[in-house]
Amino acid sequence: MNAQISRKAPTFEPLTADLRRMHLTVTKRFEAKVAAAKEALSHSHPGASTEVILEAALDLLLDRAKKRKGLVEKPRREKRPSRPDHIPAEVKRAVWVRDGGCCRWALENGGVCGSRQRLQYDHIQPKALGGKPTIENVRLLCARHNLLAARKIFGDAWMDRYAPASKATAATGRRDGGSAGARSEVPAAALTGPT
Ligand SMILES: [Zn+2]
Repeated sequence: MNAQISRKAPTFEPLTADLRRMHLTVTKRFEAKVAAAKEALSHSHPGASTEVILEAALDLLLDRAKKRKGLVEKPRREKRPSRPDHIPAEVKRAVWVRDGGCCRWALENGGVCGSRQRLQYDHIQPKALGGKPTIENVRLLCARHNLLAARKIFGDAWMDRYAPASKATAATGRRDGGSAGARSEVPAAALTGPT
């Protein structure tokens, strides 16, 4: 019977419209690899048939070949916006109208800055902290107050992240004398500084 053992390319015998029977002569080494692959995939593909294992292997091979040609099944996610302040034009228009074309920074005396110089669109909750470019989350600030807002917010975020103890202290009311509250006030130096 050995004379009939064929190492020719596999043949496919049509069984139904969709099913084929493949005749393929393989080595013992191949058989061992199939068994090893089934074992390796026993968690992700429990009880997978030889066909499933071989098809998964072929999929990997085809994917790799495609990638080498620069054809990727799923293009990577859209590249990140290069500008951190990307805000849709319609949001900018609405914010500009709502804020009256001037800086909305709240001053200690109860008013707002009102500057019309070097206005910028500011994320109230920063993008880095999950803030969205929505009308509600965007406001007009002059460049100086935009910088000050970022300093304050990222300063506070830094405190939350690296010094949770101070937060816990505040929550339990052991904070005394209002010194912690002073942190949220606008330092006069920052208001009059050259920036
Ligand atoms: Zn301002």
